[in-house]
Amino acid sequence: MSEQPLDGWFIERFDREGSAIGLKVQEKLHDETTPWQHLEVYSTETHGHLMVLDGCVMLTDRDNFLYHEMIAHPALFTHADPKRVVIIGGGDCGTLREVLRHPGVEQATQIDIDEAVTRAAERFFPQLTEANHDPRAELRFADGVKWVDDCPENSVDVLIIDSTDPVGPAEGLFQQDFLARCQRILRDGGVMVQQSESPLYHSGSIIRDLRTAMTQAGFDSVATLVFPQPTYPSGWWSVTLAGKGGAVDRFRETAARERSFATEYYSDAQHRAALTLPPFMARLLAG
Ligand code: SAM
Repeated sequence: MSEQPLDGWFIERFDREGSAIGLKVQEKLHDETTPWQHLEVYSTETHGHLMVLDGCVMLTDRDNFLYHEMIAHPALFTHADPKRVVIIGGGDCGTLREVLRHPGVEQATQIDIDEAVTRAAERFFPQLTEANHDPRAELRFADGVKWVDDCPENSVDVLIIDSTDPVGPAEGLFQQDFLARCQRILRDGGVMVQQSESPLYHSGSIIRDLRTAMTQAGFDSVATLVFPQPTYPSGWWSVTLAGKGGAVDRFRETAARERSFATEYYSDAQHRAALTLPPFMARLLAG
């Protein structure tokens, strides 16, 4: 839930948790009601541009590298040889850019329900969309649930669900029948990764339920990775990996260490650290 700027602050409140985050804004640059959601862009004093969907912070210039690197690189370095990558959501194109840093990727398709998000990213976050003209990139605008339904089985190496919170258009992306369909479109050895909300607020609910649904959907292994994300609820975030026929708590450590591209947060050491769950989380995930 959000409030309109108050004395120059954008505030996103998390009523259930009795907490909020705030960013000091300079001006509202864009305000659009799309067929899917309310899209706003602000300039801020200290975090560059800010994108907001339905009152929830999606990204800022300053800290989006944490999320985008951690949703892309752990999954790609867990898969043995990812060539065909699909991103559901991710309309700001930051995840697509990270995926295309991997030279072995032959095709990366992004399917976001809302073209307006990509058009706003091109205008206000041009650095995130710089890989959109890579010949390996394909951008489609459609409902990810329907797209996955229509996708041939055994055709994808890495499937990334870079969605909004599990309400509104993204609700179906957290449900077990969707996850089962994701499992079927992956090739053997395939890896799925889904943004899975706050370790502090959601370990005993959304993250635990997602892990259970992934296992029930037929995945052979599941691992949750945690990392800082200062402008999301609690300032701490997670992604959950699921493997078809392979373990996702191991990764190609040498390849990660000797990667051919620069990163700001991801490294083989951060990957190992992110896989190490604190005791409170392990207890809540065990139910
Ligand atoms: N990093 C963000 C976060 O965790 O808050 C998510 C960023 S990305 C902008 C989320 C995208 O998911 C949005 O652009 C939204 O349009 C898209 N989305 C939501 N539901 C979808 C669906 N059913 N199919 C495809 N895209 C969807």
